[in-house]
Formats: sequence, structure tokens, C-alpha cells
Amino acid sequence: MIKTDVCPNCNSDRIINLLERIYSPPVNVTREMMENEKVPYFDERLWILFEKVLASREPVKFEATLCQACGFIFYNPRFTHHEIMIQAEADNTILVPKTMRGVGDWVPAQKKYQRAKRIYNLISAFNKGSAAKQRILDYGGKHGHNLVVFIEKGSTGYILDLKDIWRVSGTVYLGKDLTDLDKGDRYDIILLCHVMEHLNDPSGLLRDLTSHLADNGLIYVELPLGCFMEWKTMEDPTLHMNYYSEESLYKSLRMAGLDVIYLSTRNQWVTHGKMLCLNAIACKREGSTVTRFKTTLEQMDRMKYFWYNMKKTPKKHALRMLKKINDRIVQSIRICISRYL
Ligand SMILES: [Zn+2]
Repeated sequence: MIKTDVCPNCNSDRIINLLERIYSPPVNVTREMMENEKVPYFDERLWILFEKVLASREPVKFEATLCQACGFIFYNPRFTHHEIMIQAEADNTILVPKTMRGVGDWVPAQKKYQRAKRIYNLISAFNKGSAAKQRILDYGGKHGHNLVVFIEKGSTGYILDLKDIWRVSGTVYLGKDLTDLDKGDRYDIILLCHVMEHLNDPSGLLRDLTSHLADNGLIYVELPLGCFMEWKTMEDPTLHMNYYSEESLYKSLRMAGLDVIYLSTRNQWVTHGKMLCLNAIACKREGSTVTRFKTTLEQMDRMKYFWYNMKKTPKKHALRMLKKINDRIVQSIRICISRYL
């Protein structure tokens, strides 16, 4: 891991630490337990961090850091590309049940078609070319579910992904990353869904992808709204390194030389449930069509988004709130009892 003194998004040195958290190796977890699926999820992740990535049992400290120049929140220190590859390999072997290795979808995504349709419909509103015979690249596209509707309309779906696994029919696997493409390869639409939050150089990827975008092409970026709450919980330091807001995503796209033509924050379905997501569409053009965005500080406002969620899914969030109140009461009672006994 490497500690950085500048923002990985915009290179500014105007960074401040928001909080720090220390992680220790999970107690009494062995490789055999990992193989037999007896280990709670966060212990599994920590086991991979300490045993496979760091090869050490020394506790490690992570800082959640905010860049005051671009609004980007990130973990510091940061995993190197090599360390991310080790994690991906471990995820693909140790965490997958033996009988399911190589099969792929061992925790199948739900509502896949509805999600693909939402993405297709959103992009189509800005797609001036004919959907037929377009070349669509899904970077980190895994099984290719998000390409299904494009393929139905006559486009060809290409996938770059670390895992060469089962894919939906009609998709073409090109390799692991951009090094597997020829310099002149161009795509009409590039999908970049839930990828940038995992990378050590996400803005570098955006710049490199831009060089593979056709002159009239569109790039669609979808990310969790990590700046809202996720950066604070940090239960799994190996999962996400980057926590975006509309502000930091907008500035990333602009720094990559792209015109942002659509930007939103929506509570939407992603593989296994709904979550607050950032959605952006950009293209190669001078200037920017979208000129306004919500700042990171605005999107960190928990009360505002609490009421936003209450309006969208009132039952689910009311139950979640009651559970939190109940947990707090139980915790307070336990503290009182422990003090007076
Ligand atoms: Zn920055």
C-alpha cells in the first residue's frame, strides 16, 4: 500500500483527513475455515487483506481523506494495482464455493433485465447514432447483463473484465483491461458501471477510455454515492477505495476532456438491491453542457438524503430507522448495567 500526499483524482495537495480506522487480522480464522464457508463476510475480507495482500498480522490504519479542490473522498494508504489483482484472484478462488468455481454467477444478480433496460433507455435519449450495428464496450462488465438490450437492438457487446467467466450470449470477451485493445479500437458507447470506486487510478482509466471513444460516442458512468455514508462505515477496507459525489465525478469527467451531458443522483437497483447511485453521460466535445452539480459537502448531508430515501421507499427506511433506535436503546441499557453492576 502507498500513502499519498496529493489527491489521486486531481493531484491537489489540499487534502484533509476526515477520520481514521485501525483494522486487525480476524481472530481464529484459518484457510480451512475460509474454504468451508464458515467465516462471516467481513472476517473473510480481512483474512484476505492480512494473509494474501499484506502477508502480515500487524494492524493497519486507513484514513478517509477529502480533497478540498475536487470533493473526492478516498482511502489512504491506497492499494497498488498489484495488490488489487491479488484481492481479485482471492475473491475468485477462495471466496467462491468449490463446486461453483469457474461457473461465475454463484450469487446471481436480480432484476438484471430491468437494470439493463434502464441503462439502455437513459443512454438512448442522448444517442444520436443508430442503435443497430453500434459497438458497445462494457468495462468491468462481468457477465454482460447490462449489454443485453443493446444486443437485442442489433449492437455488438464487448467486455473487458478481470474475470473470464460465463457471459450472456452475443457478447464478445476482449480481455482483462485496456492493454488487450489495439490503439485504434473505438467504441460508440462505453459503459463504466461500478468500477471506478475500486481502482487506484480511476481518473487515469477515464482518460485512457476516452481515447477509445468514437468521435460521436458516449460514455456512461455509474457509481455508488460513496460520499454520503459509505466512507464513514469502512467495514471492508478492501472493497472500495474511492467515494464519489456529483462534484468529484463531474470534475473527473471534465479533467478527462469530456463534455458532461447528463448527471444525476438516483436511488436505483444494482444487482441485489436499491442504492443511491451517481449516473453520468459524457462525450468528446469542448465545453460542458451540464454546468451545475451537487457538491460533496451537500451530498454528505445525511438528513437531506434520509428524507429523500423516506420519500422513495418509506417502509424500508422507517423499519431501518426503528431498528437503529432499538439498537441504540439496547446499547445504552447495556452500558448502564455494566457501569452499575
Ligand atoms: Zn482532488
